Amino acid sequence: MTEQEIKDMLIDSGALLEGHFRLTSGLHADRYIQCARVLQYPARAERLGRTAAADWQNSDITAVIGPALGGVVFSYVTAAALGVRSLFSERKQGKMQLRRGFVIQPGERILVVEDVVTTGGSVQEVLDLLQNYEVDIAGISAIVDRSGGEGDFPFPFHPLLELEIGAVEPEDCPQCHQGLEISRPGSKN
Ligand SMILES: [Zn+2]
Repeated sequence: MTEQEIKDMLIDSGALLEGHFRLTSGLHADRYIQCARVLQYPARAERLGRTAAADWQNSDITAVIGPALGGVVFSYVTAAALGVRSLFSERKQGKMQLRRGFVIQPGERILVVEDVVTTGGSVQEVLDLLQNYEVDIAGISAIVDRSGGEGDFPFPFHPLLELEIGAVEPEDCPQCHQGLEISRPGSKN
């Protein structure tokens, strides 16, 4: 899929909204991304997984891992396209861990995935977790990179789509200055 096709699919699924939004951080933005809304359609999720997998077809990946919850479905569809295991990590008492009886063997080649990279924090936690295993990290994939380059990882990073989502303080918000009504994504819109 091309970047435009991915963007169109996100918009069509309601995963990418354009308007005037109050984010949970309190900042205002003109775009809002919620990848669960595209991943709820298995056929669309599968297409995204196949697109991501295409970047890593010859990388000898043995398993894909994503942080829960955002990375779970994308890990699964990407792993399915690569024909390898799909794992997820989760935080327990604030610390990213491998649970559920998942095992990673020394020497494996791991692809780390996330739905949306915002600051890169969750991906970094997974990379840190993987330091406990003697594995090669092949690289990182994401459906959307909205970090504006902040997701600066020491491994190849191939997001499917790079998006600018400028979040601003309410007093600096151009849409507020125009008197445009604001909505809180996730509530109803
Ligand atoms: Zn505003």
